[in-house]
Amino acid sequence: MKPKLLDTLNKKKIFKLVLGLGNRHFEEIENLVTIYAIAGADMFDINPSKEAVEAVMRGVKKSGKTPDDFYYSISMGLSGDKHIQKCYIDKSKCKNCGKCAKKCPQNAIVPDKNCYKVITQNCIGCQKCDDCKAISFTESEYDVEKIVKIAKKYKLDCIEIHLSTKKIPDKEIKYVIENFEGALSLCLDRKFYSNERVKKLVTKVIKWKGDANFIIQADGVPMSGGDNTFNSTLQAVAMAHLVQPYGAYIFMSGGTNAKTAELAKLCSLRYNGISIGSYARKIVKDRSLTDALSQAQKLIEVCRND
Ligand code: SF4
Ligand code: SF4
Repeated sequence: MKPKLLDTLNKKKIFKLVLGLGNRHFEEIENLVTIYAIAGADMFDINPSKEAVEAVMRGVKKSGKTPDDFYYSISMGLSGDKHIQKCYIDKSKCKNCGKCAKKCPQNAIVPDKNCYKVITQNCIGCQKCDDCKAISFTESEYDVEKIVKIAKKYKLDCIEIHLSTKKIPDKEIKYVIENFEGALSLCLDRKFYSNERVKKLVTKVIKWKGDANFIIQADGVPMSGGDNTFNSTLQAVAMAHLVQPYGAYIFMSGGTNAKTAELAKLCSLRYNGISIGSYARKIVKDRSLTDALSQAQKLIEVCRND
C-alpha cells in the first residue's frame, strides 16, 4: 500500500498533472494519463465524475504501472468559478468567422452548418474564446456530498475546493474536513485573495482542522498556462510566497510551466509540488508517443529540480 499523500509531501516535491475540473473529454484524459504515468508523474487531478476516474485508471493500466503508483485528486468548483463554466455559441449571432475555434486550446469549437458549435465535453471554461457577442457561458455547480462520495468510493487521496469566489464557502470546507479522511486542498486564485483574505481563510481552516495539515494550491492566474516564460508563472510563485508563512503544504498552479521551479528557487520559496495543466497538455499534443514522452519527462525533471 502506498504512503499517505501528506507523508509523501514531507519527503519530496511532487509533479501533479491537472486534467481540468471541467474536462469531460475522457479519451484525452486517458491518453494524457498514459503519457504522464510512463514519464513519471506522481499525481493526477481530475473532473469529479465516475467517468473521469475510470478514464484515469484506464490510462494508468495502459502505462503498465499500478493504481498505487500514483495519487489522485478530484476538484470541486463553486458558482462564479471559471472551471465549472461551459461555452455556448448562439447560432443566430454567429458570423462563421472561425476566430474562436483558432483560440480554443481544447479544439472544443468546430464548424457546424455555416456557423460554429461547441463540443461541450471538451470545453474547460478557460474563456480564451470570449471575444464575440455570439458566445456566452453556462455553469454547473458541484455538490459537496456527491464529491465526497466519489472520493470515498474510489479511495482517492485528495479533494480540492476551488475558492475563486467572493464568499468563502465555510459549509463545503467543513463538510470535507468532517467527512473525508484524505487530504484537503484549497485552491486560491491570486485575483480573489489579498493578504488579508488569505489570512482570514487560513486562520479559519487551521481552527476547524486543529492543524495546518492541508494543501494550499497557490493558483496564480487560473488556466493561463501555455507559454514557457517567467512572466506566465510569476503570479503562481507570488501566490505561493503569500501563503508560505502559514505552514500548510503548498502546490503552485495557474500559469505554471517548465520555468516555475527555477523561479521558485530564485525566490527561495518553500513548496511541495507543482501542478501543471495547460502547458503540460500543450507540449505533448499532436506528437508521436516517443516525442510526447520525451517532452513530458523533461518537464517532470525540471519541476523536481531542487
Ligand atoms: S462564435 Fe463568434 S468568433 Fe466564433 S465563429 Fe461565430 S462569429 Fe466567429
Ligand atoms: S476557448 Fe476555453 S472556454 Fe472557449 S470553448 Fe475552448 S475550452 Fe471552452
